[in-house]
Amino acid sequence: MGELDPDCVFCKIIRKEIPSVAVFEDEELFCFQDANPQAPTHLLLIPKRHVTGIDVATWKDADWLGRMLALVPSLAARTGIRKEGYRVVVNSGRAGGQTVFHLHLHLLGGRNMTWPPG
Ligand code: 5GP
Ligand code: ZN
Repeated sequence: MGELDPDCVFCKIIRKEIPSVAVFEDEELFCFQDANPQAPTHLLLIPKRHVTGIDVATWKDADWLGRMLALVPSLAARTGIRKEGYRVVVNSGRAGGQTVFHLHLHLLGGRNMTWPPG
């Protein structure tokens, strides 16, 4: 498993150096519970290599980025939030609210979401 950053918290989670509650894992993606959940269900879905955020994405990343999004309905079903509905969020950069600079998709559900987000 190459292309991990030894100083990145999510790379450490991928390496199991930091424990997490895993929900799904395959060759290129990993999904686990957020440690500070903002909804009854709050999952994080990440690539298993260090990509700093959505802002560095290009067309070359279309395949695995597409897989990330396409995985969402089954993750929502698996965690029981698919029927009622859920929210998918990607924060980008400081003003976008990004605090961990390893690309991650938030999947939130189990309560009614408000709009606009803060
Ligand atoms: P961001 O603000 O960058 O979009 O989201 C980062 C998310 O990662 C936050 O929701 C935060 O609770 C979560 N997080 C940060 N450190 C850890 C950790 O060590 N384990 C887990 N499971 N989640 C973490
Ligand atoms: Zn990383």
